[in-house]
Amino acid sequence: MAKILVVDDNDGIREVVKMHLTMAGHEVIEAENGRLGVETAIEHHPDLIILDVMMPEMDGMEACSQIRTDPACAAVYVIMLSARGETSDKVDGLNTGADAYLTKPFEPDELIAQVNAGLRTTEDRRQAMYDLLTGLFNRRAFDDLMHRELSLRDRHGHTLSMVMIDLDHFKSVNDTYGHHIGDAVLRDLADILRDVCRSSDLPCRWGGEEFACLLPQTDLENALKVAERLRAAVEGHSFPEVGKVTASIGISQAGPEEDEESFCRRADEALYKAKKDGRNRVEAAPNP
Ligand code: GH3
Ligand code: MG
Ligand code: MG
Repeated sequence: MAKILVVDDNDGIREVVKMHLTMAGHEVIEAENGRLGVETAIEHHPDLIILDVMMPEMDGMEACSQIRTDPACAAVYVIMLSARGETSDKVDGLNTGADAYLTKPFEPDELIAQVNAGLRTTEDRRQAMYDLLTGLFNRRAFDDLMHRELSLRDRHGHTLSMVMIDLDHFKSVNDTYGHHIGDAVLRDLADILRDVCRSSDLPCRWGGEEFACLLPQTDLENALKVAERLRAAVEGHSFPEVGKVTASIGISQAGPEEDEESFCRRADEALYKAKKDGRNRVEAAPNP
């Protein structure tokens, strides 16, 4: 059952849309204006959004662009459903990030067919963005997110830090307990990472038993606190069957004009130093 958010200020339209979606087997959540639509999308991560355009407080165009700025909503398929049917309205809607534009009054069969096609697109996009084993962002999504965060640094002077995590002696976990248990350790580590991070942080599986997390609006000093909390949480966790596992961590803060490659390399070098100096420790790269 897919979760669909219907955003419309007209109670009657929400009811009718909800009825058709429910009959088609979907779960429906609702919001009655653009501002509440954005809040509901960010909180509930729906699989698809049906968005009215003309609404009080915030219109559908603005709501759509705000929803798209939340990385967890980047994959969601958005259908604009509006009484405004001029070509220029459709062009504007699609240009603000909507995936489809339907006009009112709508044909229920067409709406449901569009919804079902849209849900397949959401699923495809999610598979391209998330790591299957852990549910974290994959490396490709991480690269996109880093690019975006570095643009925010350039435009608004935001600080940005990165935490790189590598499990210690993980090969011996696999060798001793089997790959299956090793996978379970990776999933637990992802849960720890999600727990320790703020909702604005961007944790990902970098590859193998390495993880990375972008910390927007965080300087090196605060990144160090996060990394230390993370290291301690891993050390304190009892992994089923395996018991104790530790991680080494390297951190870096993006310099004012530093590119992706150098920002990652410095975190990686710090991580390498943490390994060399005995593992189960955090090392910070000096700011460039
Ligand atoms: P170090 O402390 O130096 O990091 O030692 P290590 O054993 O963790 O490092 P090494 O790079 O030698 O080995 C990494 C291991 O991670 C080898 C590989 O079998 C395991 N690994 C990588 N990806 C996965 C995965 O998806 N599942 C499981 N179970 N193991 C994985
Ligand atoms: Mg490794
Ligand atoms: Mg390792």
